[in-house]
Amino acid sequence: MNYYNELVNTDIQGRNVLLREDLNVPTENREIVNDERIRAAIPTIEYILSQNAKLSILSHFGRPKSGAFEKEFSLKIVAERISKIIDKEVHFEEIPISEKSPDYRNEITLYENTRFLKGETTGDDSLAKKMAKNCDVFVMDAFGTCHRKHCSTFTVSKYSPVTCGGLLLMEEIKNLEKIFNQPKKPLLAIIGGAKISTKLNVLRELINKVDAIIVGGGIANTFLLGSNFSVGNSLSEKSMVENAKEIIKLAMEKNIQLPLPLDVVCENQKQINIKKVEDIIENDIIKDIGPKTSLKYKKLIEEAGTILWNGPVGMFEKSSFESGTKNIAVSVCKSKGLSIAGGGDTISAVQKFSNIDEIDYVSTGGGAFLKFLEGEELPGIKIIKKL
Ligand code: ADP
Ligand code: MG
Repeated sequence: MNYYNELVNTDIQGRNVLLREDLNVPTENREIVNDERIRAAIPTIEYILSQNAKLSILSHFGRPKSGAFEKEFSLKIVAERISKIIDKEVHFEEIPISEKSPDYRNEITLYENTRFLKGETTGDDSLAKKMAKNCDVFVMDAFGTCHRKHCSTFTVSKYSPVTCGGLLLMEEIKNLEKIFNQPKKPLLAIIGGAKISTKLNVLRELINKVDAIIVGGGIANTFLLGSNFSVGNSLSEKSMVENAKEIIKLAMEKNIQLPLPLDVVCENQKQINIKKVEDIIENDIIKDIGPKTSLKYKKLIEEAGTILWNGPVGMFEKSSFESGTKNIAVSVCKSKGLSIAGGGDTISAVQKFSNIDEIDYVSTGGGAFLKFLEGEELPGIKIIKKL
């Protein structure tokens, strides 16, 4: 890991430190419902303060549509929560950075939502200059945004004298690299969910590394189409069928196990049935994998040395279609292999059906996690690499 500039190896004694965190916590009626992301950032924040540095923190929060202040997306409640956790005053700065650069007058300042700033999502240079002004060190610590070339995740580093990776980001990179560079074999990838084209691209890359693949959700349906099964009205992407066929062919050539579902749970005019895949008819909607498939997948999970999981295998939010995902969650948690899970819905599924602590590593970033698996160099990671 000595090719990264890490916060712990950077002299920040008494310096002005600009920190990018991912404080994008879920809320309901302006109340934080889960503060895990805030808690995950605390070690980096406390480390910086322990070095007598002055700290300014940036984060995005939700997806404000206007690109200007919207009360619903204000980070003020997050400043209050950080303050409560670290038992220190956190100054909350409402004046946009575009109007006033950080001055590091307070020990710790949280700035208002970066996505209220014009130029943030386009990675604007003049905004980046304003962000970086007066800072000695920029610390990137937000893995979930590393795949974005936003002003506060990428461009800002052009104008900060030093850029390094915070504790949380380094932990994430180290874990993912370990798994990727020396996975305990066999390496199994479980890919499900709804984002078909993104995930098929990931599979296209993963095929060079894995020994077995389990598919579910819309991905499995697209593979079924690629194997000439009908999927009725199920979620699938016709334009990706050729890609699915290519992956099936590659898997055969490389001797990679890629079992397709044998049976599925379908809905048709409010009727729910378990069917063999060859019996799917027009208007059937596949919403989960069936019990025979679950059993087959369970065996692969038990045999795996390393398991990489992204994407539920069914519409697990509804109890009638939760079995497949529940079985996977339980098997992955029980497995002796090293398990890694990423993706918003995947993590919700693990929390719902099993104990998240039994997953060896939970990646915080959905999109970034997938891009990392694809082998892409993420802009937010590139900036902390030593030249
Ligand atoms: P993640 O957030 O873990 O990356 P995705 O966002 O790609 O996962 O997909 C999760 C969604 O996929 C869930 O809301 C789930 O209901 C849906 N899903 C899973 N299987 C199916 C299916 N067969 N048909 C339609 N939607 C599905
Ligand atoms: Mg999702």
